[in-house]
Amino acid sequence: MSDLKKIFHCTQCGFCCHGETTVSLDEDDQKRMIVALNSTEEAVADRYWRINGSTVQMKTEQGHCVFYDDGCTVYHGRPWRCAQWPLVPALLEDENNFLIIRESCPGINKELSYQEFREILARLIGDDS
Ligand code: SF4
Ligand code: SF4
Repeated sequence: MSDLKKIFHCTQCGFCCHGETTVSLDEDDQKRMIVALNSTEEAVADRYWRINGSTVQMKTEQGHCVFYDDGCTVYHGRPWRCAQWPLVPALLEDENNFLIIRESCPGINKELSYQEFREILARLIGDDS
């Protein structure tokens, strides 16, 4: 079994795509999303983005990201933070982060202790400290 599968297997529950706000998109995210949607920046911004100053997030509809429809409908153009979730570096820093994220994400292997989980995640994201 791969290291990734030992610690995480997405159940596609969609919980992380729900809420009234979303992750923010950096410039690369914005470009990738425009290409994935085969559209123009103006059209994508108008239909899908919530822009506040220099912060660009995705709009939400009915309590979830505008792209959520029983799964991510912009999968190849999704923001990097969506692709990274839930295996964020903050999990290496503090067991509380682990406990909070594990509670909200059923894809995290609940059989593992924090130390076991942390050891594998550190190998995966290249931080063996
Ligand atoms: S909350 Fe976790 S298991 Fe559910 S869709 Fe998001 S990443 Fe996958
Ligand atoms: S872009 Fe996709 S993965 Fe990210 S919050 Fe929206 S539906 Fe979920």
